[in-house]
Amino acid sequence: MLVYHLPGTLETREADLDLLWGAGATGLEERAGMIRAYFEAPTDLPAEVADGEWREEADQDWMAEFKRTLRPVRAGGVTIVAPWLRGEVEGGQLPLVIEPGMAFGTGHHATTRLAVEALSALGLETRGPGGTGARVLDVGTGSGVLAIAAALLGARFAFGVDIDPITIPIARENAQINGVDAGQVRFEEGTLGLDALTFPGEGVEAYDVVVANLYAELHDLLAGEYLAHLLPGGPLVLTGILTVKLPLVREALAREGFVDVVETQDGEWALVTARA
Ligand code: SAM
Repeated sequence: MLVYHLPGTLETREADLDLLWGAGATGLEERAGMIRAYFEAPTDLPAEVADGEWREEADQDWMAEFKRTLRPVRAGGVTIVAPWLRGEVEGGQLPLVIEPGMAFGTGHHATTRLAVEALSALGLETRGPGGTGARVLDVGTGSGVLAIAAALLGARFAFGVDIDPITIPIARENAQINGVDAGQVRFEEGTLGLDALTFPGEGVEAYDVVVANLYAELHDLLAGEYLAHLLPGGPLVLTGILTVKLPLVREALAREGFVDVVETQDGEWALVTARA
């Protein structure tokens, strides 16, 4: 692999980047104050970018490197792991295996971790009719991570919906990997408002718990729908919220009459819980 190392960053040398592309670079990236431009073959470069150095580097298996850097993520009583790290889950923790792929939700984003922590603290196994396990609705399910976490934590069933159809087979596969069967979790393309979210075979439209990792503006729009899909007193768990956008979510929950609003922050991200 031929790499041209140019001092500077993509920002400080923005004006020169077109020259590198024009000279045939197949990729550009920045590492430790250097621009790395990838080329198929050595080439004469314009004077403006002649202060760099050509180097032949060993090819790297980027996927292997990415996989090596993925670590298990502990969230409450659950540890989210990639399949090849299953053996690293500590005793007493519930392993939740997620194949890193095209759908959001490997556990490595603060919002996913915050949401699994919140679900873990809800005592899902003793909620629901006769204390036999909560019925959970997961809006914006992505990889299915939150619905599957709910099922592993003792929910009677969890229903994950997502407007992006690509996520649904991925979420179903993740459920299978975790040994959670279709009677306990279900994934369908959809969203609140457009569909009556009835869990097949159960006839349930109002849930014991609603969880949604979306974004503040959408929580504002959907707050009335969350209420409509929650049984009275049921917990609502919202994340995907930038801390600067917390006032929007606070106001939406107050508008719909949610009570016991509690906010948790992790860096720039926040999670809000409330009760219907
Ligand atoms: N639940 C996963 C997690 O916590 O890691 C994934 C969350 S990801 C931030 C948000 C997901 O919501 C995406 O998969 C996206 O396609 C989906 N989404 C966005 N807008 C939506 C909407 N209006 N209704 C349902 N799903 C939506």
